[in-house]
Amino acid sequence: MHEVVNEKRTPPKKPFIFYAIIAFVIIMLLNALVFPSLMKQSVVEVGYDQFLEMIDQDQVKEVSYDESTGQFVFVGEEDNNTRIYKTGIWPDDGERLLQQLREHPDIKFEAQIPTQTNPLLSFILTWIFPILFFFLIGELSYRWMQKRMKNQMPGGMGNAMSFGKSGAKIYVADAKTGVTFADVAGQDEAKESLMEVVDFLHEPKKYAAIGAKLPKGVLLVGPPGTGKTLLAKAVAGEASVPFFSISGSEFVEMFVGMGAAKVRDLFKQANEKAPCIVFIDEIDAIGQKRNTGGMGGNDEREQTLNQLLAEMDGFDGQKGVVLLAATNRPESLDPALLRPGRFDRRVPVELPDLQGRKAILMVHAKDIHTDGNIDWDIIARSTAGASGAELANIINESALRAVREGRSCVSQSDVEESVETVIAGAQRKSAVISDHEKKIVAYHEIGHALVAAKQSGSAPVTKITIVPRTSGALGYTMQVDQGERLLMSRKEILNKIATLTGGRSAEELIFGKDNMTTGASNDIEQATKLARALITRYGMTDEFDMVALETVQNQYLGGDASLACAADTASKIDERVVEIIKTAHEKAFKILKENEMKLHELARHLLEKETITGDEFMELLNR
Ligand code: ADP
Ligand code: MG
Ligand code: ZN
Repeated sequence: MHEVVNEKRTPPKKPFIFYAIIAFVIIMLLNALVFPSLMKQSVVEVGYDQFLEMIDQDQVKEVSYDESTGQFVFVGEEDNNTRIYKTGIWPDDGERLLQQLREHPDIKFEAQIPTQTNPLLSFILTWIFPILFFFLIGELSYRWMQKRMKNQMPGGMGNAMSFGKSGAKIYVADAKTGVTFADVAGQDEAKESLMEVVDFLHEPKKYAAIGAKLPKGVLLVGPPGTGKTLLAKAVAGEASVPFFSISGSEFVEMFVGMGAAKVRDLFKQANEKAPCIVFIDEIDAIGQKRNTGGMGGNDEREQTLNQLLAEMDGFDGQKGVVLLAATNRPESLDPALLRPGRFDRRVPVELPDLQGRKAILMVHAKDIHTDGNIDWDIIARSTAGASGAELANIINESALRAVREGRSCVSQSDVEESVETVIAGAQRKSAVISDHEKKIVAYHEIGHALVAAKQSGSAPVTKITIVPRTSGALGYTMQVDQGERLLMSRKEILNKIATLTGGRSAEELIFGKDNMTTGASNDIEQATKLARALITRYGMTDEFDMVALETVQNQYLGGDASLACAADTASKIDERVVEIIKTAHEKAFKILKENEMKLHELARHLLEKETITGDEFMELLNR
């Protein structure tokens, strides 16, 4: 790993209040147990006659009268022990006592009798000691907090010590992140683009000779999990220049101005260390469009963004500071950030294609033990639409599965099973499903498969199963395209909608309209989405022609589309959607009706086997 300066440590767990409570308890104990015995000698109570006797024997030194209790309190000496005494109640013969006291002129009468033996000690104990004690606690906890803040939040709330420190992790040049371009599979265009940046940092002269300027900023955009952060780390590993890495959210601060201060600090450090690379991950956290009128904006974020824009203009491209950023919401970024001179290069990091998926699978498969005859082509084909992160997860799941089953290497079936686990959730072997429901699920799935198989241009069925999944699916039919599909024709979309309605159609055909089940809810959702997109986004109907009726919001985050048309048009679109789905549904029903015998046969077979492969299915179908 690269050496990481100011890495984060886990904070101490006990909060300050914990120590305060301990101090409080100690003080209470001291008060209750130690102080009184130090401060006060126990008072001895004696009878009145003994008091008089002690006066006679010259054992009394001072006497005072406590009016509230009617008792005498006096200091006496017995066997060379000075103690405080109390008499019983004052009897009504004051004359006699006075007489007696007069006979002993050395007794101080009416003197204030001290109840505390040592005034200095008591002063220290009651005043000085607690003050010192609390001062010490305060001092210690302050030091502790200081240390904790330094460790835990560089430049965070510990503003007293590190106001405005950027807190970026700095990967030092000669150490290695351990990640290189070889670890990033599939993203060839992105790699090429970034390699140029790395090359520039290695040999700036080559570029300067021609007068070529390096882009100041490179923005990596793409869906989550496609390897943007990984690519940036690979650049750090290859570049052998200092690499500052910080996440956009780390600039977001509670106090206005702190984020901007961090940006300043980051670029100051970067300028000192140039040539170097600054990487801001998830830049949308600070780079969002500034407020365009309307309600009050977010001052702090805008200030931070303004500071970033200013810094980007400020630094000298020739000096060799390259800003790298990643986001999966490029459409939300402020246009000022994207103009040439700031992030002038935009590198798309898209979901991997067939070749890319195979490459990513194989990169990650290097880390696990396999039995050596896994067909990665098949796996790659069955994972259309999966991101790099999901593929990495699939490999890991398959290794876990092998361990679970006590094998020492991963086999093809492990990987296939984990593809399904990642797509549809783990098998729920414990689920109790009644025979009747199982039968419904079997007909439903065969319904999908049959409709798909009887239409030309549908992707071939590769697997049908009625083993329930933790995702809630009670069964599913897997269709995998032979090659990589980038385009879809109108006919294929309509066929797909028909296939989606096939499950419900089978239920209706076999069990009757009244007995249709909720099992088709997911199919319905998908079919509706497809039908709507066909009209509003793909422009495939005569009625609306090639008019964009919907705009997609977050293209990389699977965002919803929002309608961009009159209410009138919207209701017409709804009508067309219903029409398309109805037609598809009828078509599916008709196909199944024509092949009812096959439907029964296949469903029975599936019920028995629970899982059948595409080949088995085709063989039975064509027999
Ligand atoms: P993001 O684009 O969301 O930043 P990451 O870079 O964090 O995605 O990727 C997450 C993980 O997915 C990586 O650590 C890596 O294991 C895996 N991964 C993603 N894309 C690739 C790829 N192209 N090659 C190899 N592994 C990848
Ligand atoms: Mg990332
Ligand atoms: Zn279904």
